[in-house]
Amino acid sequence: LVSRKKKPEDTIVDVKGEKIGDGKQYFVMGPCAVESYEQVAAVAEAVKKHGLKLLRGGAYKPRTSPYDFQGLGLEGLKILKRIADEYDLAVISEIVTPADIELALDYIDVIQIGARNMQNFELLKAAGQVKKPVLLKRGLAATIEEFINAAEYIMSQGNDQIILCERGIRTYERATRNTLDISAVPILKKETHLPVFVDVTHSTGRRDLLLPCAKAALAIGADGVMAEVHPDPAVALSDSAQQMDIDQFNEFMEELKSFQRQM
Ligand code: PEP
Ligand code: MN
Repeated sequence: LVSRKKKPEDTIVDVKGEKIGDGKQYFVMGPCAVESYEQVAAVAEAVKKHGLKLLRGGAYKPRTSPYDFQGLGLEGLKILKRIADEYDLAVISEIVTPADIELALDYIDVIQIGARNMQNFELLKAAGQVKKPVLLKRGLAATIEEFINAAEYIMSQGNDQIILCERGIRTYERATRNTLDISAVPILKKETHLPVFVDVTHSTGRRDLLLPCAKAALAIGADGVMAEVHPDPAVALSDSAQQMDIDQFNEFMEELKSFQRQM
């Protein structure tokens, strides 16, 4: 179902009236984790100033270590809902268990399925059974074929509102947290009819690489770029080394807008 051979025209994912996949390039910005109303509001304010519409923030954090911050859970979803209403933004947040899919419908605009859950087939099926856009991230060690099959799981249940997100894969290279597989973008665009985003934060794990990698993503035809922004990254409860602060975010957006004008 996700194959372009089956459906030659692009699928447009409608997120609160934003037509993702329609040619315009989107930016999904926000903190790694929702920590407090004030923290998310500070980022929402900055996002709004740039005329952006999509805000991210994790309420359920699938952390590598069980001793790391696991997220605020439902409390985090409530904060996101309040922010979305007050700032007229669409929010994207990760759901980690099938049982929470229904609950999430009332709070968020896009269900994110994270890299670690790309082959959680029960979660994929549950996300396929609801009427809510899904942002599906590529697994840490998933081939493009496996990634496409994960999207197929969702679509086979009836939900065609899927955004694919390349977020880097694990290779032998240690200079970056993961290796951004930039060629996955045109391959996914060719093989499927779905919009494709690139997460420059989790793929690189390096603040100094966010801008060049975002430019590469835009130039190669990605429909959107995701990156993490925190009002004070030094005290962030997760991914502290790679989130941008508000000043860095402002500069990042200015650079990307001027890059888009030159494209
Ligand atoms: C995230 O986007 O919050 C996240 C945890 O990313 P990934 O699933 O790609 O590691
Ligand atoms: Mn993160």
